[in-house]
Amino acid sequence: MQETHDEVFSEIDCLKCANCCKTTGPLFTEKDIERIAKHLKMKPADFEKKFLRVDEDHDKVLQNLPCWFLNPDNTCSIYEVRPKACREFPHTDRKKIYQINHLTIQNTLVCPAAFEFVERIQQRIDRK
Ligand code: SF4
Ligand code: SF4
Repeated sequence: MQETHDEVFSEIDCLKCANCCKTTGPLFTEKDIERIAKHLKMKPADFEKKFLRVDEDHDKVLQNLPCWFLNPDNTCSIYEVRPKACREFPHTDRKKIYQINHLTIQNTLVCPAAFEFVERIQQRIDRK
C-alpha cells in the first residue's frame, strides 16, 4: 500500500490540481482551529464565526468552497498550520487503510491520486 501511495504521489503534482481544496475542504478539529486562529492573530471564536459552519455530521467545516485559504496558484496560504485533514488527504498512506475503504472509494470521485491508487491496488490484486 505504502509503495503504491509513494509511486502515485511521485507522479501527481497536487499544485496542478487542488481539487480537494476547491470541492471538498477539510474538517477542522479544535486543535486546528486554535493553531490557525493563532497564526492569523484571531480569536478562535472569531475564526469559527468567519470561516466555519457545523455540518450534518456535527463536524466543523468551511462555510464556502473553494477554500478561502487557497491561493490562485493552488498553493495554500496557511500551509504550515493547515488542518490535519489537509495534511493527510487522501489518507492513502494510512497504516490500517482497510478501515477507511468506503472513504477511499468516495475520495476517488474528487482526487485523481486516490483514483490512481485504487486502480493500481486493484491491478496488483488481479495479478495475484
Ligand atoms: S485532489 Fe488529490 S491529487 Fe488533487 S490536490 Fe488534492 S490530494 Fe492532490
Ligand atoms: S487549508 Fe489549505 S490545504 Fe486545506 S483546503 Fe484550504 S487551501 Fe487546501
